[in-house]
Amino acid sequence: MDLIFDIMSSGNYLNNKAEIDKNHKVVCAGRDDLHDLIEDEKIEQAIRHLSSNQYASAIQKIVDLSKIEYFQKNKTTEGFSAETLLQKDPSREIDESLNGTITKLGFTKRNLSFTKFDEYEKCPKMFWYKHVLNALPENQEAPALSKGSTFHEIVEESAKRQQEGQIDNADVLLKSLESKWTSEGYLTQSIQKENQDKESLKPALKSYQKWSSTNPNRIVGLEIPFTIHIGDYPIDGFIDRLEQTPEGEYVVVDYKTGGKNKKINKIWESLQLNIYCMAVKEKKEFGKLPKKAMFFYVEKPENEQFFVYDVDPTQVEAARKKLEDYVKAIRSKEFDAKPEMFTCKFCSYADICDDALEE
Ligand code: SF4
Repeated sequence: MDLIFDIMSSGNYLNNKAEIDKNHKVVCAGRDDLHDLIEDEKIEQAIRHLSSNQYASAIQKIVDLSKIEYFQKNKTTEGFSAETLLQKDPSREIDESLNGTITKLGFTKRNLSFTKFDEYEKCPKMFWYKHVLNALPENQEAPALSKGSTFHEIVEESAKRQQEGQIDNADVLLKSLESKWTSEGYLTQSIQKENQDKESLKPALKSYQKWSSTNPNRIVGLEIPFTIHIGDYPIDGFIDRLEQTPEGEYVVVDYKTGGKNKKINKIWESLQLNIYCMAVKEKKEFGKLPKKAMFFYVEKPENEQFFVYDVDPTQVEAARKKLEDYVKAIRSKEFDAKPEMFTCKFCSYADICDDALEE
């Protein structure tokens, strides 16, 4: 009854989301849906209160949300207490941020990834904006991430079927696109942008299907998780696909969506591919460097899609050395700008950066 009472006291919910019969029982939504709807409404209210500086009201909604979570886990609200939640002191960083003496980097030892090094390599100041100030305009990246993860999910599932001997045709992949596409990453984008991105995956999937179905290598791993260590920093990541040639050599494949005009001049210097090579060697089940590592730009014209690196142990070690230097520099808070026309052009912080180069 508590639940129904809560629902009934929410006018917005009743007006928009459900119906009640004459006995005031909810009749059109399942319990899980109801919980989700109540949760969504509380989140919306908490955000509204936060943006209008009504912190006490926002805390009330957060306590409600915590109670909802408790109910979902325990199927009862009995025994719920908000005490721990409400015993929080202000964080030390807030004083440091307010005094301009911030000392904590916006990442921890546990969450360094290749992408962060890649950003540091492009421009340390960009890294500083994003991971030290945490000034990430997240939404700008959401569509690209959403599109990329949909593609990866579809081809991973298809490759698993391929491992079991079933080769999908292009229609199967296109049907997967219809069922897996989600608008979540496009909430702040135009419908045209969303449609354009979805359409762009169709030729990409056809391209993948053509390549994968005629590929003589055996797939030995998909989305392989790994952790390698640079100094005492663990770097986590996933390898999209690892294959083995008929001669027993390994080949790393990394899919890229977007980048239609991408050019890579010195593929052997790629930090990402060299990190993957280190990971393959360090994994007991593989135990040696791959023979080749490649980027597969699925949206580029057919004859320009592959950037292949003939793996060279000297280059792998050079990449390790470079990563060690970056770790030292990040620890010493070396975040000088490295402005370059191309990098600044696509940098999310160009509008606020004094060092930005403009064409
Ligand atoms: S605008 Fe250019 S110099 Fe400034 S942070 Fe971005 S890439 Fe670096």
